[in-house]
Parts: sequence; structure tokens; C-alpha cells
Amino acid sequence: MASTDCIFCRIPQDPNADIIYRDDRVYVIRDIAPRAPVHLLIIPLQHLTGFAYIAAGQIPIMGQLFVVAEEMARREGVTVSGYRVIMNQGPDSGQAVPHLHMHLLGGHKLADLG
Ligand code: AMP
Repeated sequence: MASTDCIFCRIPQDPNADIIYRDDRVYVIRDIAPRAPVHLLIIPLQHLTGFAYIAAGQIPIMGQLFVVAEEMARREGVTVSGYRVIMNQGPDSGQAVPHLHMHLLGGHKLADLG
């Protein structure tokens, strides 16, 4: 259920929002504060706060996030050069928006995780 308090629920309702991809499960925007030349957010239309709310019923949505991520990477020209997907869950991860979303980062060499 959409929450009027949730920025990622409001964006798909905004006719002026710069949504670069949309289907019946997810939409994609460019991150407002990009940390790489390509920094997209792939976001479920359904309000799910985070991984803590994922169960078997959300498998189609979770799968769609990954399918759309690769489709967007191809469109952005980073499939061959490489990219990283990140999903934050909870305070220790730095999750700032409590609506499940996937970051897609690419377009330059990304820092090692280790
Ligand atoms: P997270 O820390 O995983 O919750 O990431 C939230 C991301 O959403 C951050 O990278 C923000 O820069 C981004 N963000 C927040 N509000 C907006 C917005 N209105 N449009 C685009 N990106 C946003």
C-alpha cells in the first residue's frame, strides 16, 4: 500500500517526476546525489520497507528488480564495463529511505568492498 509519507511512493504519482523506466512492478529514477557516473535506483511500486518485509510472495518483485537492473545497465552502456547493485537494510547499512530499493552504480572503477 502506498504511503503518502514515503518519497518513493510519491514519485510514481508525480506527473513531473523523471522516471526513466516503469513497468507493472518497478520503476527507475536517477539518484538525486549520484555517487558514480551511472547511479540509478530501481524501486518497487509496492511499499515494502526493506528486506525485513520480504517473503515468498515478493519473489516476482525481487526478481524483477534484478531483471530491470541488467536492462538498465545495458541501456546505460555499463554491462560490459561492469556495475554494482546494492540494497541497504536498516541503520547499520545506512539505509536512508525506508522503502526497499536497489542502487545500480557504474561508469567508472568502483572502490573495493573489502
Ligand atoms: P539508501 O541510503 O539506500 O536508503 O538510499 C537512498 C537513496 O535515495 C540515496 O542515494 C539518495 O540520494 C536517494 N534519493 C533520496 N531522495 C531522492 C529523490 N527524490 N530522487 C532521487 N533520489 C533520491
